[in-house]
Amino acid sequence: MRPYPINCVSIVIPVYNEEQSLPELLRRTEAACAQLTQPFEIVLVDDGSRDDSAQILQDAAERAGSSIVAVILNRNYGQHAAIMAGFEQCKGDVVITLDADLQNPPEEIPRLVEQAALGYDVVGTVRNNRQDSAWRRWPSRVINLAVQRSTGVAMSDYGCMLRAYRRTIVDAMLACRERSTFIPILANSFARHTTEVLVQHAEREHGDSKYSPMRLINLMFDLVTCMTTTPLRLLSIIGFSMAIVGGLFAFMLIFLRLIFGAAWAGDGSFVLFAVLFIFTGGQFIGMGLLGEYLGRMYSDVRARPRFFIEKVLRSQPPVAAPVTTAAVSEESSTSTSNQVAS
Ligand code: UDP
Ligand code: MG
Repeated sequence: MRPYPINCVSIVIPVYNEEQSLPELLRRTEAACAQLTQPFEIVLVDDGSRDDSAQILQDAAERAGSSIVAVILNRNYGQHAAIMAGFEQCKGDVVITLDADLQNPPEEIPRLVEQAALGYDVVGTVRNNRQDSAWRRWPSRVINLAVQRSTGVAMSDYGCMLRAYRRTIVDAMLACRERSTFIPILANSFARHTTEVLVQHAEREHGDSKYSPMRLINLMFDLVTCMTTTPLRLLSIIGFSMAIVGGLFAFMLIFLRLIFGAAWAGDGSFVLFAVLFIFTGGQFIGMGLLGEYLGRMYSDVRARPRFFIEKVLRSQPPVAAPVTTAAVSEESSTSTSNQVAS
């Protein structure tokens, strides 16, 4: 891992009905960014707020010499879409995302930038003293575990949006045109070196969480489907297991029938169970098969780019005497492309 030169830092903050938090957010974020050695910009995306948030952002951006960029969306698109809009507008080598409700202290920004400068593609955070109610904590613990199992990406806290992403990762995410995304997981799917830092987590002081239970369920499905089609495969696995159990049960019945005679097997009612298991298993296998096709279609429809080239390095062709024929220059270009290093 090599140190990563950072010429500009961007902070991206989605804002939805946060007029009460905004003045303190702007003050604290600007103060934290002033500690950075690099130039910075603070991109605030208003996600169709119905309160005065958009006006506050516009005023802040229009102040002379302001480092604030206000991006106003025409309606509410959701937190992750708003962050994507911010990604599209920012130009930093490192981009830091953060919530507007001050649950993630902006004072941690310099530490994240420091880690990113060491060469990490993604710097995640773990909430030290998570200040959410238990009914928010438990689902997210289950989700973290499921994500870790299914993706193999070892991060312990996906719920905290205070994160730093390197420019290449942001560009890769922007190239994904899918509508439902969960940014921390999408980013991890492109990252090579990741790390996590411990950060403080505060209680929400103004307003309520913008996630109703229904939106939370929606987010959870976004999270699962943005990463994996394994749930579809689960259908086949259930089907196979059921069919095998049914088959074994049938064998057992035949075996016991031969040993203990016809009177034993409840006059054949157990046989029905065995047959039922086998057929239900078969149905699940069929559904799983449909799921396999569906999963492939899903990834084709999503049309994520197949790969992202981080950089291409080739040795310069040796300076030769000027050549004029096309044939010779073609040969020299092939020889250089053979020396591609990554
Ligand atoms: N947010 C947004 N659009 C939405 C919902 C939320 O931009 O539709 C922003 C919100 O203003 C906040 C961040 O996303 O900055 C996180 O929202 P919230 O604090 O309500 O989520 P929680 O902390 O409860 O997970
Ligand atoms: Mg919050």
